Amino acid sequence: MAKIIDGKAIASTITDNIARASADFQSQIGIAPCLAVVLVGEDPASAIYVRNKGRTAEKVGFRSIQTTLPADTPQGDLVQLIRQYNDDPSIHGILVQLPLPPHLNAAEILDLISPAKDVDGFHPINVGRLASGAVDSALVPCTPAGSVILAKSVHGADMTGLHAVVLGRSNIVGKPAAQLFLQANCTVTIAHSKTKDIAGLSRDADILIAAVGRANFVSGDWIKPGATVIDVGINRLEDDKTKTTDAQRSTSSKSKIVGDVDFAAACEIAGAITPVPGGVGPMTIAMLIANTLTAACRQNKQPDPVLA
Ligand code: NAP
Repeated sequence: MAKIIDGKAIASTITDNIARASADFQSQIGIAPCLAVVLVGEDPASAIYVRNKGRTAEKVGFRSIQTTLPADTPQGDLVQLIRQYNDDPSIHGILVQLPLPPHLNAAEILDLISPAKDVDGFHPINVGRLASGAVDSALVPCTPAGSVILAKSVHGADMTGLHAVVLGRSNIVGKPAAQLFLQANCTVTIAHSKTKDIAGLSRDADILIAAVGRANFVSGDWIKPGATVIDVGINRLEDDKTKTTDAQRSTSSKSKIVGDVDFAAACEIAGAITPVPGGVGPMTIAMLIANTLTAACRQNKQPDPVLA
């Protein structure tokens, strides 16, 4: 049976370390690290994510600002708010919750966030730093960063020569995950919807990272015996077909969250696997908090905190 990688416990150790480092920061600089999160509209899942991010920030002693704007907010108003946060030295991290309503230009908004405060790591400057190997000066996307730490919890810091296969090539997960595993000296293959023989490629992976967004996409026979499986997917399976609106679904006690991997089958063959929930998810929030502290330190000419 595969070892279950306890993302919740690893994230909790990291956030405990952040709480201590945050107290040190405050005693040296005189203010707490501050994360500003902007939500546009009332998407229930986004509202839950934003609330959890704010709660975790407060738990580690950060100041947390949450701004909810109406769904019909004009681009100009959002631009103005981001500029105001960019110019405010007491705000160290800015996150605009995605997806934005379709009338808004998300790329323009992400480009506008100061790269120094871009705690999601989506600004082209941070993307470029990651891609060119300048990871130490980048702010790195949270889910991929958490995924690498989970893989290292199995293989140790040195993953030299291991074959990492990343399923998915999104800018948010797949591509930055591939860059980070490359940085860790893995040999990296990226697969996507146009890839031929995705099952065969997956079977060659020492580390299989699934970020596709389809429940049970990876079956047990796609996994090499003893491989490490990092399941990034978050897929909501509805038991109760009577719930038809987003609001009903988000509060439905009968809906079930599953990953991209057939967990029961994978447990029989993998060496180690992340559960969903309780694997990559908690790491994503921990990495966001870590990025905020790193951003606060850099903006105040302090060394990067050591958190792992
Ligand atoms: P996305 O933007 O929809 O990207 C999905 C990727 O999967 C795309 O590259 C797509 O290929 C590929 N894909 C889709 N169907 C495929 C198929 N049949 N065969 C091969 N590849 C296929 O999704 P995302 O934002 O990267 O997120 C992926 C999953 O991770 C989602 O379930 C999301 O909810 C979850 N997620 C979890 C966290 C967390 O904190 N745990 C954070 C972010 C995302 P093409 O590019 O060719 O279309």
